Amino acid sequence: MLQDLPTWQNYERIILAYSVRTQSELAYAERIEEIAEQFSELVDNPAKFTFVPIVTRESMDGALNARLPKLLTEGELEKRVGLKLDPDSSHVMLCGNPQMVEDTKETLKEMGLTMNRRGEGNIAVENYW
Ligand SMILES: Cc1cc2nc3c(=O)[nH]c(=O)nc-3n(C[C@H](O)[C@H](O)[C@H](O)COP(=O)(O)OP(=O)(O)OC[C@H]3O[C@@H](n4cnc5c(N)ncnc54)[C@H](O)[C@@H]3O)c2cc1C
Repeated sequence: MLQDLPTWQNYERIILAYSVRTQSELAYAERIEEIAEQFSELVDNPAKFTFVPIVTRESMDGALNARLPKLLTEGELEKRVGLKLDPDSSHVMLCGNPQMVEDTKETLKEMGLTMNRRGEGNIAVENYW
């Protein structure tokens, strides 16, 4: 998705909340920053990109340290990026382990967001395996 030019043209902000269990699993962080730099140079007024590392089973400086549902419910993710999720303008793509995807989806629905159907709604999901 980050290597798709319209992503950079059609949004004001792109937030990548990248959740892993341990610090050693933050494998693609450098590559992601490279892609962000490269693609934001290709368009006028590119979306502002924010990478948020999340490590759930150990603490790490600079990373958030809880499961996504908790970070959303307690407002910690929104606080970190300085942006509120908005049913009128936010799009959320969830990808990862099925339980995390399911729990995060239900949390977002409780926050007023809806599943995307035929281009309407806020949430799209993909189970990673
Ligand atoms: C590019 C990418 C690829 C990935 N690939 C994989 C992969 O192949 N396999 C894989 O396993 N993960 C993968 N992940 C990570 C995965 O998607 C999760 O984000 C990560 O494992 C953290 O899961 P979690 O938030 O459920 O927290 P966990 O670390 O699973 O849980 C954190 C704590 O909460 C507890 N907990 C778990 N579930 C619940 C619940 N329902 N209610 C209350 N407490 C709970 C746990 O016991 C633990 O103490 C990938 C992530 C990325 C970014």
